[in-house]
Amino acid sequence: MHVIVVGAGFVGLSSALHLAADGHEVTVLERTGVAAGSSWGNAGFVVPPMTKPLAAPGAWVNGFDMMLNKDAPLSMPQPFSPRLALFLAKFASQMTKKRYAASVRAEAPALKDAFAAFGRMEELGVKASLTRATFTMGFESADGLEGLKTGMAESNSVGLEGNVDVVSPEVLPFFSDKITHAAQVRDQAYIDPPAYMEALAEACRTAGVNIIEDADVVSGYEGDSGVGLVDRKGRSYGGDAVVVAAGVWSDDLLETLHGKKARIGMAAGRGYSFTASVDPEFLPTEPVRFPSVSVVVTPYRGKVRVGGTMEFLPADAPMNPARIDSIKKALRPLVRGIDLENTTDHWMGPRPVSPDGSERVEAVSQRTFVASGHGMWGVTLGPRAGEIIAKLVTERLGR
Ligand SMILES: Cc1cc2nc3c(=O)[nH]c(=O)nc-3n(C[C@H](O)[C@H](O)[C@H](O)COP(=O)(O)OP(=O)(O)OC[C@H]3O[C@@H](n4cnc5c(N)ncnc54)[C@H](O)[C@@H]3O)c2cc1C
Repeated sequence: MHVIVVGAGFVGLSSALHLAADGHEVTVLERTGVAAGSSWGNAGFVVPPMTKPLAAPGAWVNGFDMMLNKDAPLSMPQPFSPRLALFLAKFASQMTKKRYAASVRAEAPALKDAFAAFGRMEELGVKASLTRATFTMGFESADGLEGLKTGMAESNSVGLEGNVDVVSPEVLPFFSDKITHAAQVRDQAYIDPPAYMEALAEACRTAGVNIIEDADVVSGYEGDSGVGLVDRKGRSYGGDAVVVAAGVWSDDLLETLHGKKARIGMAAGRGYSFTASVDPEFLPTEPVRFPSVSVVVTPYRGKVRVGGTMEFLPADAPMNPARIDSIKKALRPLVRGIDLENTTDHWMGPRPVSPDGSERVEAVSQRTFVASGHGMWGVTLGPRAGEIIAKLVTERLGR
């Protein structure tokens, strides 16, 4: 079968690699370039027992703060667009204890398999791997620490292994005196996202996948015997099936192919990141998280990559430099030795957040498949999503 994958992000390329391994001819149509969406400057954490549904009870109780405080980790445009209002209404309805517990249970099998799924990507030729690491979290009060322990107990109850080791904040010279409590979770992992994406694209090409990097798909149809897609330059592409893996932009393509009802109703949860140097005396060599301000710090090529914020604005709206400043403002008092004046690689990526907070990796029709909506966790869940898509396509249409 000839399968067309739309989108060369983490999920699209994982799907392409597994489809090629299943013996399909695969073409990836990408509008800008590999990792042009949210798969380049993310934090790269693969932390199964700490991977939680975004729609958690009480998670956004400080909604009033996020409307009024421009530096809050969560940011909303004002006034809301009708589409965003609908998304938020559906999202808020998920924030019950019962629905949250159901999401934690539903996600457990994928999370238990996350490390192994990365191993299988290496077997398929990806010349990049997970870096196993201990994650350290710094808190400004004992309350945050309790929240982490509760979250770990939830994970343990669905079979996800992990322990919270309470440690002295002195464990990390990077922490300033404001950090009064700290904890570590061992045996987790992270990747260097840009390097991983390059290696993944290379593995796809080696497996025979044709990645076309200037194909902005603007329309398409599904017929009885195949699918057809047309890009902005008027070029057309025919195949036996299409996998829509275009991140938050997937909704538009799904509507083009199957009408409004096919939309997932995602919102772009835009996150920001940048690279900073740290004085070697204070440089963290393993990932660090500051839950109270929702900022993460990942070791990155002798420096650190700092990421955070969830800004609900249209995916293609210009990057807002004030969000980078807000991350710096939040981080500055909590750390030592970081140079926040000369930061580089300022980046914004639109997380594909679904209205119920869970991903969609499924058949939409006989020949259309979707793999999107991974929100905060598309790196962790991407390899497995690719495998599931390949299995679905092969089961439905043969090789
Ligand atoms: C700051 C930040 C930190 C994060 N940290 C983590 C983390 O630590 N761990 C984790 O697991 N996840 C993390 N994530 C989430 C993760 O980055 C995303 O879930 C993941 O990248 C989604 O991948 P994707 O392939 O679905 O979408 P994308 O990477 O957005 O890829 C979609 C691709 O489709 C292309 N496209 C769109 N429309 C079209 C079209 N019409 N025609 C052709 N091509 C099209 C785009 O150009 C893009 O390249 C983070 C995200 C952010 C923003």
